[in-house]
Amino acid sequence: MKVKIENLTKKYGEKSALREVNLDVPDGNFMVILGPSGSGKTTLLRILAGLLYPTEGEIFFNDINITRKPANKRNVAMVFQNYPLFPHMTVLENLRFPLESQRDGKIFKRRINSDKVIQKKVKETMELLHIEEHSQKYPSQLSGGEQQRTAIGRELIRDPVLFLFDEPLSNIDARLRYEMRSWIRRLHSVIKKTMIYVTHDQSEASSLGDLIVLLNEGVIVQIGSPEELYKNPVSKFVAQFIGNYPMNFLPFTTKKGKVLLNEKEISVPKNITTIIKEKKIENGDFGFRAESIREFNPKKPKEKDMLCLDCTVEYSEKILDQQILTLKFDDRKIFYVTKTKKMFKENDLVTILLHFENIHIFNESGEKVT
Ligand code: ADP
Ligand code: MG
Repeated sequence: MKVKIENLTKKYGEKSALREVNLDVPDGNFMVILGPSGSGKTTLLRILAGLLYPTEGEIFFNDINITRKPANKRNVAMVFQNYPLFPHMTVLENLRFPLESQRDGKIFKRRINSDKVIQKKVKETMELLHIEEHSQKYPSQLSGGEQQRTAIGRELIRDPVLFLFDEPLSNIDARLRYEMRSWIRRLHSVIKKTMIYVTHDQSEASSLGDLIVLLNEGVIVQIGSPEELYKNPVSKFVAQFIGNYPMNFLPFTTKKGKVLLNEKEISVPKNITTIIKEKKIENGDFGFRAESIREFNPKKPKEKDMLCLDCTVEYSEKILDQQILTLKFDDRKIFYVTKTKKMFKENDLVTILLHFENIHIFNESGEKVT
């Protein structure tokens, strides 16, 4: 089923949790929405599930406007961080439950699930989830991953038209989280239902999504592949949020067409001075990734179009074959990741080089200009 979100705004009192959100989710897509805590992810999912109504805007499921349709008529599955399984029921009984309540409940008013149908569906679902061997266990006897798989199974068995995942793996330990991610992706490739997965974890989003929708303060700030967001962030916010290390920033000023760093004039390539002039930038930031920094080697001739900075080591940390250094350049901190064999220690002097090709330029309001 395809989902269309049109001009969605949600206010809680005066505060806007979502502002004019527009998004198309194609049929069968696995869409990842990434955003820091408080950016409006849960609000968006609750609106899609019908648990909340928007202040403005519309939601379409397969071109039908369902904005005011109540939750129990939408057939949407939602999986949370803590998904409550019934503790007094076995895995098998937990899975049977949604089908039995459909059969017995007044929602459908007719007997739709015969015992035979239920049995067949439960069997299929357990196979798909690889939990057959645990069918007689109670939730307390299952591992975190098995519990979460059963919880997903309980949604799956109802045959929903849309799956919403609200940070389902936040409570699971790191190794299992990794397994569960690939399991969810495989589940999607088998059942091919439209899924929307939200997370605040950029590495989770990058590993799960072909396309990431990045949300901040209720606004979609960028949509792109993990690589696009990493290589071409539209703003300082995106640059800081994506990547294993936040991007480094150094503020610059301009004076009569010259670029100053710490009030000292530096030489920058012509294309950059042209853009700075064209866009009339007086203050901005140079942004660069820890991974694009090189150490200056006095034996090699200095290349053109390089920014050269004399720094001191404030802190160094070794992780396997990498050293992660926090450098100081005047009062600014710079993250630098290196595989060099030389061991750095506090207060060592390090001269770093940056190719201007690897430097992003942000204007005063934090938007990327080049
Ligand atoms: P996320 O899931 O990305 O952490 P939420 O959608 O839960 O974000 O919240 C978005 C914003 O709306 C937050 O600032 C939050 O404090 C606010 N908010 C969420 N629910 C309510 C509510 N019921 N009443 C008032 N403010 C709320
Ligand atoms: Mg949330």
